[in-house]
Amino acid sequence: MSESRVAIIGAGICGLSCAQWLQRRGVSVRLFDKARKAGGRMSTRRGPEVTFDHGAQYFTVRSDALGEVVQTWADAGVAKPWTGRIAVARHGSVTAKGDGVTRWVGTPTMSAIPRHLAAGLDVAAQTRVGAVERDHDGWRLIDTDGVTLGTASTVLLTTPAGQAVDLLAAAPQLAERVAAVEMEPCWAVMVSLERPWEIPADGVFVDDSPVAWAARDGSKPGRGARETWVLHATPAWTRAHWDDDAATVVQTLTAALAEASGVERPSLAHADTQRWRYARADAPLPERALWDPELRIGVAGDWCGGPRVEGAWLGGRALAERVLADAPNT
Ligand code: FAD
Repeated sequence: MSESRVAIIGAGICGLSCAQWLQRRGVSVRLFDKARKAGGRMSTRRGPEVTFDHGAQYFTVRSDALGEVVQTWADAGVAKPWTGRIAVARHGSVTAKGDGVTRWVGTPTMSAIPRHLAAGLDVAAQTRVGAVERDHDGWRLIDTDGVTLGTASTVLLTTPAGQAVDLLAAAPQLAERVAAVEMEPCWAVMVSLERPWEIPADGVFVDDSPVAWAARDGSKPGRGARETWVLHATPAWTRAHWDDDAATVVQTLTAALAEASGVERPSLAHADTQRWRYARADAPLPERALWDPELRIGVAGDWCGGPRVEGAWLGGRALAERVLADAPNT
């Protein structure tokens, strides 16, 4: 069991940004994540000689704060703009979408960014927090077998909203706000192909189809020469097909992209899937973070303030600022 001033549950981009901001200001922080590695939805799946960004596809930067930090990631070699051709596919035709947006990705994979951030932080991976209880002078974190993982004077939850509610029994007012947030699911399909899929684009927003988005993942910088695609289903299709078997989902979604783009799909070399239960918030809360200064518990994530990587990163920093504003008791 370890003692830290601040315990953060969730080592996605929000938790990492929060931890980094606190640690730089001299606060002792420990992150806990149930997954094997930090990163959450900024993640990468590996296949035979291929990788897939199966969660976040790219991210945009609108704030100066993230802009400055992304430059440091680029300098460290873990982020680059993706200059893929972006288009809209609809009913058999593909139209280029020249929107002038800079789309950033991790290099050589999306997970390189969280890995870079986690390197200087204390992250307890493969550690699922099952409960957060009030102690005589702070908080006690307990795993799903009832074993105490650690104590902290401040606890911050940066998990998806549904998972945060489960841990907010001791803070019913926060729990009520968080419980109001709905998160949408997403079936993701990852394929590598025997030859290039001749769709005249690398990133495709798909209209009027079970597929919402598809990317030629191998067109992102540093991915290698293999022809790889990631397809994301719409939330409505995902809900209706949540229990379908993976092979059917691969066939249905790749056929839907072939139909929407008007380009036949080459033979599959490898296929994989992921069901994201909590992909994105339907209507995020307006605040970047919620903080209870009496109990010293707070929450943030992409379901507060903004439903993307940038929103999550800004939320982590906002939550850290709330904690630092009450620094005498941290
Ligand atoms: P997460 O990344 O979900 O991190 C939360 C962490 O909490 C996870 O690592 C999880 O393991 C951990 N956790 C949960 N419960 C517990 C527990 N009880 N104990 C311990 N750990 C726990 N954003 C964009 O900007 N651009 C895109 O193109 C884009 N596309 C997307 C496509 C998909 C399919 C998905 C799923 C997301 C996409 N996003 C995109 C959204 C983006 O990935 C998220 O906004 C961002 O990564 C959220 O970061 P976070 O830190 O708030 O949450």
